[in-house]
Amino acid sequence: MILILLGPPGAGKGTQSRRLQERRGLPQLSTGDMLRAAVAADSDIGRETKAIMAAGGLVPDRLMVRMIAERIEQEDCKDGFILDGFPRTTAQAEALDGLLVARGLKLSLVIEIRVDDLVMIERVIGRFTCTKCGIGYHDTFKTTRIDNVCDSCGSTKFDRRADDREDTVRARLEAYHIQTAPLLDHYLKQGIVVPVDGMAVMDEVTFQINQAVDGVND
Ligand code: ADP
Ligand code: ADP
Ligand code: ZN
Repeated sequence: MILILLGPPGAGKGTQSRRLQERRGLPQLSTGDMLRAAVAADSDIGRETKAIMAAGGLVPDRLMVRMIAERIEQEDCKDGFILDGFPRTTAQAEALDGLLVARGLKLSLVIEIRVDDLVMIERVIGRFTCTKCGIGYHDTFKTTRIDNVCDSCGSTKFDRRADDREDTVRARLEAYHIQTAPLLDHYLKQGIVVPVDGMAVMDEVTFQINQAVDGVND
């Protein structure tokens, strides 16, 4: 099964795709995580993309397509995968269609997570993650059970993303509306879009997504 989670920054793509990964045993391919790892490792790609990400812009399509093309060749993707943060432009979506056709694969579902712009800013600014296990939290909407201790692994180290600041978030939101939202049309034509209400509480969003995904028979 091949799934795409589509939605603006803060919609809950990362949160929900991690839950899907656990439930379905499919790898979550987050291009944002891959790029942040490249920046942290100071690789060629990291050096090329650091400033673009810090400004809230989109990394060039050719680079992103190459990154995903290499990733889906790996063994853990053979039964399918969950795309979180890719594609983000019509050119990326078309390239993905080509990659899948060439491998005899097809997209199962595009899950569109809908949220209001104001809420999304609040979500992104309050976001932090466990450095050790990567699980996501929020200052207001999902705090740790014990102050400063990860619920899942017990670590006491947490990270905040350099680009989760109000000024950058506005640029990212604009990039979403201008470059990514038109993708919906691309997938609506293929008849594979399922909208879910991303304003609902996390477990309710998970429930809606599970219902849609469980209804797919491939
Ligand atoms: P994305 O990957 O789409 O940018 P995240 O999954 O990282 O979004 O979620 C952004 C922030 O909002 C995180 O801090 C997360 O804990 C929180 N969050 C996610 N889903 C919900 C929800 N349904 N209600 C409230 N907060 C949420
Ligand atoms: P969010 O979870 O807030 O939606 P991501 O973690 O997916 O953000 O992405 C962080 C940044 O990485 C983006 O603002 C962009 O600069 C870059 N990026 C990630 N995926 C892509 C992509 N498919 N195309 C272009 N840029 C990307
Ligand atoms: Zn942890």
